[in-house]
Amino acid sequence: MGDTRLSDDLLTTRSVWGSLIAGAFRDPTGADLFTVHESATGEPLAQVVAASSGEVAEAVEDSRRAYDQTWRRLSPRERAAYMREVAARFRAHAEELGELCAREVGKPRRDALRVDVVSSHTSFDYYAGIADTVPGQIVDQGPIEARVTYEPYGVVAAILPFNWPPIHFSKKCAPALAVGNTVVLKPGEQAPLTVLRLAELANEVLPPGVINVVSGIGAGPALVGHPRVERISFTGSTATGRRVLEGAAKNLTYATMELGGKNALLVLDDADLDQAVAVAIEGMFYNQGEACTSTSRIVVEEPLYDEFARRFVEATARLVVGDPLDETTDIGPMVDARQRDRVNHYIEVGLEEGATVLYRGDVPHESRLTEGYFVTPVVFGDVTASMTIAREEIFGPVACLMRAADDERALAIANDSDYGLTAAICARDESRAARLAERLEVGMVFVNNYTRRTYIGSPFGGVKASGFGREYAPETLHEFVRAKNVRFPSGRGPVPGWPPR
Ligand code: NAD
Repeated sequence: MGDTRLSDDLLTTRSVWGSLIAGAFRDPTGADLFTVHESATGEPLAQVVAASSGEVAEAVEDSRRAYDQTWRRLSPRERAAYMREVAARFRAHAEELGELCAREVGKPRRDALRVDVVSSHTSFDYYAGIADTVPGQIVDQGPIEARVTYEPYGVVAAILPFNWPPIHFSKKCAPALAVGNTVVLKPGEQAPLTVLRLAELANEVLPPGVINVVSGIGAGPALVGHPRVERISFTGSTATGRRVLEGAAKNLTYATMELGGKNALLVLDDADLDQAVAVAIEGMFYNQGEACTSTSRIVVEEPLYDEFARRFVEATARLVVGDPLDETTDIGPMVDARQRDRVNHYIEVGLEEGATVLYRGDVPHESRLTEGYFVTPVVFGDVTASMTIAREEIFGPVACLMRAADDERALAIANDSDYGLTAAICARDESRAARLAERLEVGMVFVNNYTRRTYIGSPFGGVKASGFGREYAPETLHEFVRAKNVRFPSGRGPVPGWPPR
């Protein structure tokens, strides 16, 4: 069992979490509620209001008010000062946030603290630091002087998945706020508490309405359909992304899409095997495989395949599956019963399709964890490209090992996917890896590493069915502004008119 639970006080004082609008939680009396469970035990953690479409509209209208009356009027430096204070709040509450995140998502608290929570304050500090780097410009067009300014959109709807709440919160809010937008957030309904808590802390600093939060399954479509939402930033599955785009078409709302992945790790025949196994373990099992970036297809060139498989299975068997609050836990439970059942279904499909089971782990037997949503880590061998488990995103700890005769075949397998988020290559010869990286149809390639810690400051995003738009990067600021061109006579010569005389 874990240490003292910092989040218990919070969860005891607030058993029902309302929508967060204009700087305060709305009274939840009479509202529709849904229950959030602790993934490791199945016990209820809290109830959350499923916002009605009326409440979503109020959140958007309040957000617009905050945009018009306060946030947009501030200079970038003034906004940056607020954002740095938000980052400081997140740092001060890091332990509590990491624990809450671990309890509702099921991810190890150790990783939530080192990666998710660190990312939340780093993003705010980073975008505060570059908030004033989207200056306007004056373009000399002879008799005309074009004054080009970059304006925020207004209200941004940020729709989030469940899997790393602090990261999603900050990678959307920080760039959007830095350039003057306000944000209405919609967290994943499996794990909305960390997002609500982060927003509450941010609201202790920010003017009211700059960040509002609405939860519940109906809130996403209601936000997408609201005419005052002028920018959508979506992260989630490809299927939902398509529905969001259909909804966005109604009001022609500009949207970016960070969607699913079925990522390949290529282990070339000159790879350092110890390193390749370590990369494969982190790539595959980090966040118990509930990662858009999970390298769930591990393509190994023939000369190394058998030895790689042996060592990968040994390393998988050493991973500790257990309570996310224990410091030694590597793999926690799935977020909820639905996700557990979905992953177990894919394991059955893999067996039916004839994949070889190289390893099947166990679930924890501690009595307090028996109702938790644990799935045993599985390693399938000799998976072929046509198998469902090699084509569909499983989003759980299920590894597919695949054989490739050479680099060309490995590349063909990697690119034979609807998705195109990330890929990884393990090879001693980095120029060989670089040549393959050029031909991989993805947005991001890792060579001889698969670290989850250093995205901020360089672009992240996919191609094909993994979506479009880039996050974490300096240029992400530009995705939250649009150009306005105001053209004056320059006073330098007559402005040509029509009809010509
Ligand atoms: P999901 O698609 O089920 O839900 C994502 C969000 O969309 C939730 O908040 C949900 O309520 C909302 N939603 C559902 N229907 C909607 C609609 N019609 N209109 C508007 N909003 C709607 O995804 P999930 O299960 O929470 O997360 C897992 C998925 O997210 C995986 O596919 C994973 O690959 C992807 N993901 C992608 C990235 C990335 O950056 N590319 C990062 C993390 C997760």
